[in-house]
Amino acid sequence: MSARATPYASWGGVLRAPHIACRPATRAAAAEVLCGGGTMVLHGNGRSYGDVALNPGGGLMDITALDRFIAFDPDTGLLTCEAGVKLSDILEVLSRPQADGGGWLLPVMPGTRFITVAGAIANDVHGKNAHHLGSFGNHVEQVELVRSDGSRLTCSRTEHPDLFAATLGGLGLTGLILSATLRLRRVPGLGIESEDIRFGHLDDFFRLDAESADHWEYTAAWVDCLASGAALGRGIYSRGRHVPGVACDPPARAPRLSVPLTPPLSAVNGLSVRAFNALYWRKLGGAGRRLSIGSYGPSFFPLDAIGQWPRLYGPRGFYQFQAVVPHADGPAVTRELLKTIAASRQGSMLVVLKRFGTVEPEGLLSFPMPGISLALDFPNRGEATLRLLGRLESLVMEAGGRIYPAKDSCMRAESFAQGYPALDAFRAFIDPALTSAFARRVGILKEFPA
Ligand SMILES: Cc1cc2nc3c(=O)[nH]c(=O)nc-3n(C[C@H](O)[C@H](O)[C@H](O)COP(=O)(O)OP(=O)(O)OC[C@H]3O[C@@H](n4cnc5c(N)ncnc54)[C@H](O)[C@@H]3O)c2cc1C
Repeated sequence: MSARATPYASWGGVLRAPHIACRPATRAAAAEVLCGGGTMVLHGNGRSYGDVALNPGGGLMDITALDRFIAFDPDTGLLTCEAGVKLSDILEVLSRPQADGGGWLLPVMPGTRFITVAGAIANDVHGKNAHHLGSFGNHVEQVELVRSDGSRLTCSRTEHPDLFAATLGGLGLTGLILSATLRLRRVPGLGIESEDIRFGHLDDFFRLDAESADHWEYTAAWVDCLASGAALGRGIYSRGRHVPGVACDPPARAPRLSVPLTPPLSAVNGLSVRAFNALYWRKLGGAGRRLSIGSYGPSFFPLDAIGQWPRLYGPRGFYQFQAVVPHADGPAVTRELLKTIAASRQGSMLVVLKRFGTVEPEGLLSFPMPGISLALDFPNRGEATLRLLGRLESLVMEAGGRIYPAKDSCMRAESFAQGYPALDAFRAFIDPALTSAFARRVGILKEFPA
């Protein structure tokens, strides 16, 4: 298999570098590359914001050509497919409404559907229903894993269960996933009833969230990160649930709009964020609340509607930050995080606050834990942004929280070790042929300093 120098970038665009890349067309060819000597990073659809799928100057295996469906059982919802199949493909092919409006759906859908099954497993991704159904790994029945010593293993809760647990959320370090079996869920109506509610302060978020969590499967809030004082943490709370008999088609395969080129400076700045947030916060009009019934696409995947949207941040790109803090200190720490962000006058329009519940993730390094999660983007302003991210990280670590590897570009090694106490146990499952800039930076691979 020929490999050639090809540029790959983080989704945030801060890290961009040539890699010695190959894109095997079959599972056999991919296994051969892994076992052929040398180290490499595994790369899905590149939707991770930081460096988990990068290895600047080194080897990279792009798995997106492994995109075949293998089997689907319409009685049980068990789907077996290759690792590079995208969630958008699964929705397109299998999430078609049946006569009663119901149908098969992915149990966990993150904020973009343009990710691969392997990427979803390796980061054990979560969606707006994390408080009801947990994370992606909770719905994976088995993976077919090849390791660089030539072993090809079926891993599940009964076969090689320890390696299975290490591979869910295993950041692409435990072996090459060739295929996976997922359990889709049948919902009584593919469409959802959703309600958006404007709220004026962070305390209102916690009130709304407490009253919604049991009765609404999907919940999350947009927050105006520049609001301060009496308006600190104001935003729009969104909640949704499936409605029996309400059908909807899968979202369109490709974005309808696209950002055609990168502007010389970030279009996301203090002025544009302030103007957007003020308008967006008022979007519900005088009533301050809106109920609708229809497709889940626009509310689950709002950014998928605009192709190449990171270009809006200009050539320097942006950092993303997502952390979870335990419920006990959730309100106080979230308040501190938002105060720090508002005072910095950094941050963007894209801010999401959501609850994680008590469904235990099964991966040794899975990110979700019971608590409150805050996610947002910061245009890259160099040192000023890194200092801010460092302050946010310290607040999260003091509260006993953790930072999400899929979104991270600068977490300290101590913070990773503190946030992920199963790290030592995880190290026993690392495949020596696999690496990543992230794994070196946060000290997962001790022997290779960043
Ligand atoms: C707009 C947007 C919204 C998002 N919203 C959410 C959200 O709501 N919740 C959430 O959890 N995440 C979210 N994410 C993050 C995204 O879901 C994850 O980063 C996901 O892992 C990306 O998958 P990918 O296919 O692009 O893989 P990549 O980003 O390319 O790689 C991800 C990981 O998978 C590993 N990998 C790739 N192929 C294999 C393989 N064959 N075997 C083993 N490991 C492999 C890589 O080494 C890497 O560690 C969002 C991202 C975007 C851009």
